[in-house]
Formats: sequence, C-alpha cells, structure tokens
Amino acid sequence: MNAPEHIPSFDIIIIGAGCAGLQLLYQFSQRKDWSGLKVLLVDDGAAKQRSWCFWSSEQHPLQHLVTKTWHQLSFSSAAFSKTQTIGPYGYHYIPGDVFFEYFSREFIPAHHNITQVSGRVNQIQPNNGSYLIKTDDYVAWGKTCFSSIPANKGQADELKQHFKGWYIEADHEVFDTSTASLMDYSVQLYQDVHFIYVLPFSKTHALIEATFFSSKIAEDEVYDELISNYMQYTYAGVNFVVTSAEKGCIPMSRQTFKRFGQAGEVLIGQAAGMVKASTGYTFNRITQDSIWLARNLNISLPNAQTGTGGRFRFYDRLLLNIIRKKPQLVAGIFTRLFRYNSSARVLRFLDERTKPIHEFAIFWSLPWLPFIKETIKYIIDNDG
Ligand SMILES: Cc1cc2nc3c(=O)[nH]c(=O)nc-3n(C[C@H](O)[C@H](O)[C@H](O)COP(=O)(O)OP(=O)(O)OC[C@H]3O[C@@H](n4cnc5c(N)ncnc54)[C@H](O)[C@@H]3O)c2cc1C
Repeated sequence: MNAPEHIPSFDIIIIGAGCAGLQLLYQFSQRKDWSGLKVLLVDDGAAKQRSWCFWSSEQHPLQHLVTKTWHQLSFSSAAFSKTQTIGPYGYHYIPGDVFFEYFSREFIPAHHNITQVSGRVNQIQPNNGSYLIKTDDYVAWGKTCFSSIPANKGQADELKQHFKGWYIEADHEVFDTSTASLMDYSVQLYQDVHFIYVLPFSKTHALIEATFFSSKIAEDEVYDELISNYMQYTYAGVNFVVTSAEKGCIPMSRQTFKRFGQAGEVLIGQAAGMVKASTGYTFNRITQDSIWLARNLNISLPNAQTGTGGRFRFYDRLLLNIIRKKPQLVAGIFTRLFRYNSSARVLRFLDERTKPIHEFAIFWSLPWLPFIKETIKYIIDNDG
C-alpha cells in the first residue's frame, strides 16, 4: 500500500533523539546516498541529564565532542590501589550539553533532509514493509523505522547501576588530572555493592560519583553521605562547592534483547540491549551498532539476539548473580581483577574483544569458588 498523499512520508524514521537516535542519524549522514534520503526524527522531549565516558583505541566518529581524555585509570580498595596507563586506549568524556547542542545547533540545521517533530510516539503500525507512526497530533509513514522506545520496563527486583554525582569546585588544586578513578571501594558504609567514581576535569574541578550495583534505588541522602565521607577521607581539609549534580540509573538486565520491536521496527540503543549488563557502559556499543545499521540500511537484518551474546553473556550473568547473592565478595573480585591484570586487558575484556586464552588468565586471577558455584548453578538451572 502506498502512503496516502496527505500523510508525510520518509525513507527513514528515527524515534528518540537520544544517544542512539542521534548517533544513528550521524552515521546515516556518512552514506553516499545521504542527501537523497528523507529522514524524520521524533522525540518526546523528556529531559536528558547525562554525560558519557567510554574508552577506545581508535578515533571515535564524534571525537570532536570529546572534551577530556585520560590516559591513566586507577582502582582502589581497602586492600589494594593501582594507577596504570591504559594504552592503546584513551578514556574519553563527552558532556551531555556538548553532545545535544552539537546536534540541535549544528548538525540538524545543516542537513535539510531531516525533519524534526516533537511528540511521544504512541503507535507504530506495520504495513507491507513500511511503518505508520503516530503521536497525539502527528502521523507519518516511513520505509524503515528505528526506535529507541524501551521494549519493556524490566523487573522491579532487577539489578541496577544507580548513582549520584557531585560536580565540585575545590578552593585549591587537589586533583590529578592525568588519572580517572574507575572504582574506589575504600569507603564502605553499606552492604550493597558501592564505590566512588572520580573524573578530574582540572586541578580544582571534578565529578565525584557514588555508584551502587543493587536492585533498590537509594535516597539522595545515601549517595550524598558516601560522597561526603569520601571527600573527608581523601581530601581532608579541602573546601569545595557543589556546582551541579548528576543522577541516573542503568539497568543491569539479564533479559535477552531482540533486533525488532512488535511492529517490526528496528530497535536501537538501550531498547536493543546495547547496555553492557555487568558495567552499564553503552556509548561505544551504540556507536558500533549505529555504524553497522547505517551500512546495512537496505539489507534485511536477521532477527537475532542483540547486545552481549555467547560466552560474554555467560560471564556477565555469573558476575550479576554474585552481585545479587554475595555482594560482600564483589570488592574482592574487582581487587583481584585489577591486581593481576593490566587495566588495558580488563578494558579489552569488558569490550568483549579478548580471546579465550586471555579470559582464562582473567578467571584464573579471580577467587574461583563463587564462580564455580555459580557456573554449576547456571548449568543445573539452565537459566541462560
Ligand atoms: C545519567 C546516565 C549516565 C550515563 N553515563 C554513561 C557513560 O558514562 N558511559 C556509557 O557508556 N553509558 C552511560 N550511560 C548509559 C547509556 O549510554 C545511556 O543510557 C544512553 O543514553 C542510552 O541511549 P538510548 O538512545 O538508548 O536512550 P536515551 O539516550 O535515553 O534516548 C532515548 C530517547 O528516546 C526518547 N523517547 C522514549 N520514548 C519515546 C517515545 N515513545 N516517543 C518519542 N520519543 C521517545 C527519550 O525521550 C530519549 O530522548 C548513562 C546513563 C545515564 C542514565
């Protein structure tokens, strides 16, 4: 069926102008046939307060939006502390306002084939290989449709990575700008898995974030108390002001994700399982997926599982099960992971780019018993 003339029609509809929708848009713009494609971008305008860190060994397509790169990462716990260069990787930071302003002020206005519509998509209907999408006051046809609408909300008791961070300005130079602190377990106040994450942007300006891996989101005071304690413990005597705060929650989901939604629309971003369940890192996985999707626009995609698969999914699930059942072991597991492996190897493993021989070396360095118990349980339950 052809699109009725009064309804606007597009080659590509992208639902969601977030991390995935905008990166996909960017990747489409790299195609040779880009100027001939009519694109609709629909977003419900929900507030997006977030910035992104990711590591990469290559130039990222949005490298021009990176405002800070660290070449060293540190890990600390009560028993152990390590700072190490992460070559060949850089750990990059893109502030949310830089990302969104680039797209709204530069990229989209420069591309006249993009139509932007504000509204919540409440219906996607398939029709002979094309899609009709509806908001309360807008309807459009698209030959293809990409959607970042979350497929389901997940279970309430599901593990989450939840956090609150303070952007602080110290009254004198205290931060080492060469090193981002990935995990600092030295201040332990609660039974749930929690650590402090630090991004020093300058000698006086940093993001100090309290992060939990647990199923229940904490009250603001809990994160605040942790950050205050950390500041007293690590930077005693330093006066500082909190200039702004960041709060967030990322699902550490055990579910499997599919490429397509109910109407056959292509799912992207978090909706397509691009969150790495054991760490929450998503940005660069979305980048890689966007590159792949943009290159394969005219190819019918397999309805395969997306996101983490194979043995890495198994590893993620073992760790998630240990976090749920034995949170008291987690700081020790990460301590051994960083003590006996180079930080670059750990990052490559988290990128799912290691070979089995390297993974064997990594698991060899960890406390075996909880992993063996979880592996046996995994096999018996066959719950993968
Ligand atoms: C605070 C925070 C910090 C994070 N930091 C990092 C980090 O440092 N590194 C990292 O790798 N990952 C990080 N993540 C995880 C991940 O990168 C982000 O969650 C990422 O934004 C997911 O991209 P997305 O496009 O799937 O979702 P979003 O960026 O949330 O975009 C989805 C968009 O779709 C819109 N939308 C939803 N439903 C509809 C609808 N029905 N109709 C129209 N529009 C709709 C939403 O308003 C939104 O604009 C962070 C997450 C959070 C919450």
